[in-house]
Amino acid sequence: MEQEVVVIGAGVSGLAVAAGLGRMGIDRFLVLEKSDRLGGTWRDNHYPGCACDIPSHLYSFSWAPNPDWSRMFASQAEILAYLERTAKAHGLAPKIRFQSEVAEAHWEARAGRWRIVLRSGETIRSRLLVAATGILHHPQIPKIQGLDTFEGMVFHTAGWRHDHDLSGRRVAVIGAGASAIQVVPAIVDRVRQLFLFQRTPPWIAPRFDRPFDEKTRRRLRFVPFYRLWLRSRLFWIHELRAKGFLTDPSTMARIENLCRGLLERQVKDETLRARLTPNYAVGCKRLLISSDWYPAITRPNVELIDSGIAKIGPQAIITTDGEAHPVDTIIFATGFDAQNLLSHLPIRNGEGRSLFAHWQEMGMRAMLGTTVAGFPNFFLMTGPNSGLGHNSQIFMIEAQVRYIMDCLRRMRRLRATVAEVRSEAQDAFNVELDERMAHTVWKTGGCRSWYLDPATGRNTLLWPMTSIAYWRRTRKIQARDYSFTRAVG
Ligand code: NAP
Repeated sequence: MEQEVVVIGAGVSGLAVAAGLGRMGIDRFLVLEKSDRLGGTWRDNHYPGCACDIPSHLYSFSWAPNPDWSRMFASQAEILAYLERTAKAHGLAPKIRFQSEVAEAHWEARAGRWRIVLRSGETIRSRLLVAATGILHHPQIPKIQGLDTFEGMVFHTAGWRHDHDLSGRRVAVIGAGASAIQVVPAIVDRVRQLFLFQRTPPWIAPRFDRPFDEKTRRRLRFVPFYRLWLRSRLFWIHELRAKGFLTDPSTMARIENLCRGLLERQVKDETLRARLTPNYAVGCKRLLISSDWYPAITRPNVELIDSGIAKIGPQAIITTDGEAHPVDTIIFATGFDAQNLLSHLPIRNGEGRSLFAHWQEMGMRAMLGTTVAGFPNFFLMTGPNSGLGHNSQIFMIEAQVRYIMDCLRRMRRLRATVAEVRSEAQDAFNVELDERMAHTVWKTGGCRSWYLDPATGRNTLLWPMTSIAYWRRTRKIQARDYSFTRAVG
């Protein structure tokens, strides 16, 4: 049967699209999921200590509130359980086809529909296609000389080997980003020795985590508007930080003081403190929160190594100063390849050109992170420049879903079968985006982050305005920005 919509991926954004389609009364849709379980990044990342750094009452769907979050910042297991429960409760689960990996998709211009080819060889046709494949999907393992000669265990945080007991081992953790700061405190007690390879120190603010007791949870469940009040409060606490990221880094002074205060309280050794102090503006790289990172890395069985890695031998990591650090386990906490979206999944337009190839030439650009000129009836979730540095990504995802649904509504109203963003509109939007980006801390803060395209230095991932501005712009599709036509077929 031909589908009206096919969604690729059953992570947070795929589920949000499915719920949106359900609310629109669209029944002919499928969510294709390559794995045998939903949850996306929350399924793949199950390393010890994995949790969300945005409070759960904010990092959850507005249409699926959960008064029962056990604490302010829920763990990965609790978030995954929430996503699974929500998919069931909202009738989304039957729409997901598991173990259905999409190999490629082709736009058939005459017929005005997508031909989606699965790895199994099966073909599905659909009027519209939504890629909800996520940004943090392909783990990045740096090419280090000699890695293939290493005789011990090697894995990435996003592919944690729970079958590999770390007790009594000599472990290297490479990287000091958002994943590392959660992993290290969770494993430090178990390992014999931990070598932490830090290339750049992160800014870290205290994590004001706390469990919600039974009384609070009851209040969240039964007291009218209490949960909504908490969610709004958390939203605005985060949203008010936007100014510092976007236009006025001086307003970050308060956060910098908070970070410096934590470092001073938790690290007494001045030399070590200096090595842990970033030399770039707060917010330039993702601002991290942790109250147990510094206590963990100042444990006697931890050594901070900040000279670069030269090579890896069969039983050691050798740094540029010539020193060999004997290890039997290497854990890469080195992040994800976020600059090559859809490199593994060719989405081909009418000329047979893949979106990845198109972006290689034009740079990763889209309209409001959602539609791309030259790729009709195709929508992206969390596409270029729709990521957030200061608030909940789920807020952006829900705004994006609303935008897609408004496009569908307009297509119906106009009896159109094909919608495509006009390239002039997309170009004008991107000019504005780049102008605004120029003033943000991500461009001016003096760091090299994974938000920036290494070839051009352009920030291809983050939204350079407030979340509210994104919500406002995505509430309704601007008809002048799109062409709505009828396909022949
Ligand atoms: P990340 O923040 O990109 O950190 C990667 C770390 O590895 C950085 O310290 C980086 O150093 C280092 N690194 C990369 N390549 C290296 C190399 N060749 N040699 C030495 N060090 C190298 O990755 P992540 O920690 O996996 O986090 C990625 C993103 O996932 C986060 O920014 C966040 O958006 C998300 N995340 C969220 C949560 C959450 O709580 N919600 C938790 C985990 C992750 P440099 O800084 O020098 O590049």
